[in-house]
Amino acid sequence: MTIVGLILFSNGIKAQQATEEIIEIEKSRILIESVLSAEEQAALTPLDVLNSLAAGNERFVGNDLTARDHSMQIRESASSQYPKAIVLSCVDSRVPVEDVFDKGIGDIFVARVAGNFINDDILGSMEFATKVAGAKLILVLGHENCGAIHAAIDGAKLGHITKMLKNIQPAVKMSTQSEGLRTSKNRLLVHEVSENNVRLATEKITKDSSILKAMLENGEIAIKGAVYDMDTGVVNFL
Ligand SMILES: [Zn+2]
Repeated sequence: MTIVGLILFSNGIKAQQATEEIIEIEKSRILIESVLSAEEQAALTPLDVLNSLAAGNERFVGNDLTARDHSMQIRESASSQYPKAIVLSCVDSRVPVEDVFDKGIGDIFVARVAGNFINDDILGSMEFATKVAGAKLILVLGHENCGAIHAAIDGAKLGHITKMLKNIQPAVKMSTQSEGLRTSKNRLLVHEVSENNVRLATEKITKDSSILKAMLENGEIAIKGAVYDMDTGVVNFL
C-alpha cells in the first residue's frame, strides 16, 4: 500500500507538499533473521562469503533490500559477534556499505578511511576481524567519483589531509594508461587511479601482515578488491 500525503511536523505545521512515499511493509515480509552464530560462521568458506556479498549487491541494485527486524538483532548480538567479512571502504557518505551488500547487524565489519588505503591501524583491524573474530573475507572497496582520489591527483594540500593523501600517491604515480590531462577532471584517469589504489591496498595487506599472508596461503581467508559504481550501485570485483 502506498500513502502519499502531507508531511506534518509534530506541532501540526505543514512542512511541505509531500515528495516522499511512505510504503507500508507487511510484517511477513520482514526477515526474522538471527545474527550469525559461531557455528554458522565456521561453516562458511571464503568463496561462500564472496558469493553472499555479490548476491546482496544484486538485491541492492534491484531495489530489493531485505527488511530486517533490527531491534531483535541488536538484542541477539549484544554479547558476541561472528561476522563473515571485513570491508575496507572510503568514508564517502554515498557508499552505505551494509546496504550496498544487503547485510544487517552482526554480518560484516566495516573499516573506513578516506581513500580506503592500508595503514598499520587498518591492518590491525583486519587481523582482529579475521584471526581473532573469524571473518573469512577481506574486501577493499573503492568507489568512482572519490573526492580523496581527486584530491590526490590534484595534489591538494590542507592540514592533515596533505599527509593522508600521500597514501594514495603511489596509485596516482602508477596510473599512466589514461590519455588526457593529469587532473581530476579526467574521468578516465580518476577511474584508473581508483582501481590501482584498490589493487595496491590488497597487495599491501599480505606484504605488511605476515598473519594475513599465512591465513590467505592456508585458504582460511580470501582477499579481494572491488570498485563501487555510484551511477548504478553495482560493485565491480577486480
Ligand atoms: Zn572516496
